[in-house]
Amino acid sequence: MSSQGQTIYFISGANRGIGLGFVQALAKRANTLIYAGVRDPSKADELQKLNSQTKNIHIIKLESISEGDAKAAAEKIEKTSGYIDVVIANAGISNYHGPIVTTPIKEIRDHYEVNVAGPVILFQALYPLLNKSRSGAPKFVVISSLLGSIGELIPAPRTTYGASKAAVNYVTKKIHQEHEEDGLIAFPIHPGLVQTDMGNHYATSVGLDEAPVTIEESVQGQLKVIDEATREKTSGRFWDFEGKELPW
Ligand code: NDP
Repeated sequence: MSSQGQTIYFISGANRGIGLGFVQALAKRANTLIYAGVRDPSKADELQKLNSQTKNIHIIKLESISEGDAKAAAEKIEKTSGYIDVVIANAGISNYHGPIVTTPIKEIRDHYEVNVAGPVILFQALYPLLNKSRSGAPKFVVISSLLGSIGELIPAPRTTYGASKAAVNYVTKKIHQEHEEDGLIAFPIHPGLVQTDMGNHYATSVGLDEAPVTIEESVQGQLKVIDEATREKTSGRFWDFEGKELPW
């Protein structure tokens, strides 16, 4: 909390899907400011419309794989707010589905870049601002996936995606381990199978009409986990949107 009592969030991939859902839910909260990272601010119509009512959203250009965008975002936030309390690294892709034997190596690289390097770039750029959080317990949350669980190993041909989420889970646990002295809370969370472009695409591929979880249900569940998260009980562990712990 700042001297004005304002809690500040940064959310990547805020243009649509789960990221937009987070912004919509958080914008309703009092004393809350949201930095919404999107690839093209000029096309972020929903966010612009929402902000014309709530006035607590800053739309920021952020291509996940661009270190320049992340640094520019950090500089802007340093000048306007000076700190961040919660980062939600949500942007992600799941563009290729098929068995490993025929998977184009470019797909492995592309998924690794967006889903693993992306959150690392974001963490490196925003860590100094998280470290200035007045909350005493800044949070770095990565939207991961059950498809990244090696323990569960779901039999879906999603190796490009699953491997990248397993890798970002490792990275997130390392962030937890390396930032004990800062009191940083860092953990990955599975949002459920959610009614977004990505979730519905997966759902129909396994014979469902649509994904079972609404964006609102997913976001409310995840926000409960995030709001209640502590260094001792939550950080460095893998959760789902209903607060259940998942195997790595
Ligand atoms: P969507 O495909 O609906 O939205 C993805 C978001 O990520 C969009 O805002 C998109 O921006 C952004 N994005 C993609 N690539 C980049 C990039 N290179 N740089 C910046 N932004 C990018 O996905 P969801 O909302 O469903 O997924 C959100 C997160 O939740 C992802 O990390 C996903 O892996 C995870 N997840 C989702 C599940 C589901 O069932 N939906 C299940 C498990 C995990 P743009 O609009 O510009 O394309």
